[in-house]
Amino acid sequence: MLPSLFISHGSPMLALQPGASGPALAALTASLPRPKAIVVVSAHWESRELLVTGHPNPATWHDFHGFPPALHAVQYPAPGDRALAERLSDALQTAGLPNRLDPQRPFDHGTWVPLSLMYPNADIPVVQLSLPSQLGPTLQLRVGQALGELRREDILLIGSGSITHNLGELDRQAGSEVAKPWALAFRDWVVSRLGQDDQAALVDYRQQAPFAMRNHPSEEHLLPLFFALGAGERFSIVHQGFTLGALGMDIYRFD
Ligand code: ZN
Repeated sequence: MLPSLFISHGSPMLALQPGASGPALAALTASLPRPKAIVVVSAHWESRELLVTGHPNPATWHDFHGFPPALHAVQYPAPGDRALAERLSDALQTAGLPNRLDPQRPFDHGTWVPLSLMYPNADIPVVQLSLPSQLGPTLQLRVGQALGELRREDILLIGSGSITHNLGELDRQAGSEVAKPWALAFRDWVVSRLGQDDQAALVDYRQQAPFAMRNHPSEEHLLPLFFALGAGERFSIVHQGFTLGALGMDIYRFD
């Protein structure tokens, strides 16, 4: 049985400069049974309604600007999985979560950047779920709960975001050992609540967590954590760190 994962995907450059995250992701992959398929909720697919990718061979979308040509050349040609997409859609519907298939959607970098480090052969089918971010953490918990059973079938469920994410406050000069106190305080609060399985506090993080707004001026990069949380049970830390002084790189698993 596979865990559900929360992965902080960092900058798109992670695909070329994996830092400490790449080895952590590779070691995690090596310790897990090979997934039959992978389902990802990415911070980079916000939508009004809940959508499921239905394309048999989604393109690799370089959904960013100002990065070197080498990054734009990266391809992640994993297949989609129409039958799994339909199963996910049905399971969500049954759980009272209306949704529909999106036959066009490509893979965004929240999906292909971490997967390129975990499963570089791109030979495992991948289905993405959209993030109706205006519905907040509660919806993501419910989506995770509706799909958690798939872990028993060796389907890997991943929420891809960032444990802290204020792009306006990044420090390009900061070394990897340096983290802003307000980013650390927020990260540590989340970890302690996860350790206590205090879902009520976590869902209310914008009121209860220290520096919540400063770490997440908008919610989309934290919401995938709630998908992983809803889909699994026992919390543990795979990796912790910061880049650029305030961009959290934590990876968590829920077994
Ligand atoms: Zn991102």
